[in-house]
Amino acid sequence: MGFVLQASCVKCKYQSDKLVIGDGLHFIFICKNCNSVVNGQRFPFRYSWSPCPNCKNPFRKVDWVDGANLAVSFDEPTESEHQCPRCKANQLGFKAILHFSRSFDDRIPEKGTLVHGHITKSGKLEIPFLNVPFCVPLIEDSTSYASEAMMELRVTGLETEYTDDKSSIQRMKVFLEFIRYISQEDLDRESMEQPMVKSKTTEFIERATNNSAE
Ligand SMILES: [Zn+2]
Ligand SMILES: [Zn+2]
Repeated sequence: MGFVLQASCVKCKYQSDKLVIGDGLHFIFICKNCNSVVNGQRFPFRYSWSPCPNCKNPFRKVDWVDGANLAVSFDEPTESEHQCPRCKANQLGFKAILHFSRSFDDRIPEKGTLVHGHITKSGKLEIPFLNVPFCVPLIEDSTSYASEAMMELRVTGLETEYTDDKSSIQRMKVFLEFIRYISQEDLDRESMEQPMVKSKTTEFIERATNNSAE
């Protein structure tokens, strides 16, 4: 289940814009550059995020707020462990405005898609936001790459495995080839340059929150 939230501070009366979590696309960040609580949107199967909607600065991982562990209520703002970025003298409260059923627009990358990934210390390939264990990413000679280094990869093929009785899909093998190693600077550049595609979920939420605003 997803929520539309608003963050606020009782001390300095700061109020954030509406924030979406739980749709698999939007995440909450506390931007250190403009001192605001804002939404970032991920790019499909990549480590980069859309930049801050207020000041266009790229986010860092430390700015990220774990939405899954936020206590929220529809009545009063629930105090969180996160400090108010404006007065820095009080904890932020989060209040729920709307909830909706969870949905994803991009469950499986198509053949030819460029994605990000890294090889874990145990030699396994991981792709961000891939629907594991339903999707299994595979690359030849996985241990020949630098472990924990961010990489760009291309999807070269998809193969469906069915359950024994052929009635349903068991899992999807996603075959990938290595393109290049990437750096934090590459991610920042991508954040600034990549156009944000508006998802069906985003369109739904915008309609719903505009209607409930007045
Ligand atoms: Zn900002
Ligand atoms: Zn405050």
